[in-house]
Amino acid sequence: MNLYNLRISKNDQIVKLSISVDSKEFGKKELWFSTEKQYANGICTSHFDAFLVGLLFPAMKYGEDIHIEGTVSSKLLFNINHYVIPLIKSFSPSCKKINVTADTLVSENFEGDGVGTGFSGGIDSFCTVYDHFELEDNPEYKINSFLFLNVGAHGSDDENKVRNKYNLRYEYLREFPKEIGLDFISVDSNLYLFHPWGHQKTHTLTSAAGIIFMQKLYSKYYYASAGLDYSDIIKTASNYIDIDVGAYCDSILLPLLSTESLDFIPDGAQYTRVEKTVRIMNYEPVYRYLNVCVSGDDTHENCSVCSKCCRTLMTINSSGKIEDFQNLFDIPKYKAKAEKKYLVEQVLNKEKDPFAKGNINFAKENDIDLPGMLYCRIAGMNWAFKNKLIKFANGNLSEVSKKRLKRFILR
Ligand SMILES: [Zn+2]
Repeated sequence: MNLYNLRISKNDQIVKLSISVDSKEFGKKELWFSTEKQYANGICTSHFDAFLVGLLFPAMKYGEDIHIEGTVSSKLLFNINHYVIPLIKSFSPSCKKINVTADTLVSENFEGDGVGTGFSGGIDSFCTVYDHFELEDNPEYKINSFLFLNVGAHGSDDENKVRNKYNLRYEYLREFPKEIGLDFISVDSNLYLFHPWGHQKTHTLTSAAGIIFMQKLYSKYYYASAGLDYSDIIKTASNYIDIDVGAYCDSILLPLLSTESLDFIPDGAQYTRVEKTVRIMNYEPVYRYLNVCVSGDDTHENCSVCSKCCRTLMTINSSGKIEDFQNLFDIPKYKAKAEKKYLVEQVLNKEKDPFAKGNINFAKENDIDLPGMLYCRIAGMNWAFKNKLIKFANGNLSEVSKKRLKRFILR
């Protein structure tokens, strides 16, 4: 895989940095990152670093050595060849060991004064903001802008659909950065076209690529962890092999993707998810902006019944503050439609799921009534049986009969 022809283009609003990629797997393609014109000074226009990090996994997947006809950070290339490639191979055993070379290596430090993080409105994101914006006293470590990346999290199918989802989500989230007076810098890219396996598998690498694109601005970047604490990360890492590189090795991988100019700081694994949820309840904006939903609804409101809404509401309920969140969640809907079933699932899963275990223990500490194990087992079997009946109904009956049978089963 040859990377060459680093070039910059502009229009009235956007500055775009592109390269040409010549690959056995992808053929000749353009890969680009862009941001708004006012942040152009933060773009690293001289190095291929962002493109290298973004294309590393695809190159390893298809067994293609990478050669860069241009400049790369000496530190990054050293770490990639010696440590990152073996680490990724241990994450995804079907990847091949490759060699990365470049025409020019430099150890330049851009000395940007940006301290960044992403902002998604979720628990992990808010915990990083609370600790390193609200409470952080040291100006060298205090967050001073947010980044919003479009490198795969908004889907990978139709390009217009992806861009539309990205724009809608940006508009929805921008109010909080505006309120606290921080820039919310959007970075767009077509990198997801090189990651056909979807966002989850390689999200740390694709996100790091988008951040490194802005390494003239950022000297530090907090990368919020996905919710487990150190102890559970170490215990459960092997469950995520070839599924989620972040859950597998974020805290090892991210520092290895740092350059002379930009330090990645994996943040959040010092807490469990329950600890984070309780912690951010000390931060008033959370009561107006918390957004945890994974229902995929375009409204962006918390649906109050999906797995993440339920997980969050269970913790909030145990803390005794559920009524304080009635503007963000439909609490009666959660209580009527989801809570009972969710509690049963958590009791049944508490030995194998660290999130369930944390939530169950926290409920017990706060004297919350939980269903007993016998009840949960019977209820679990009952629901499994109903699901089988629904599948049966879906396969073999007329539409009207399916609906009638479903109504009967779900009554
Ligand atoms: Zn939801």
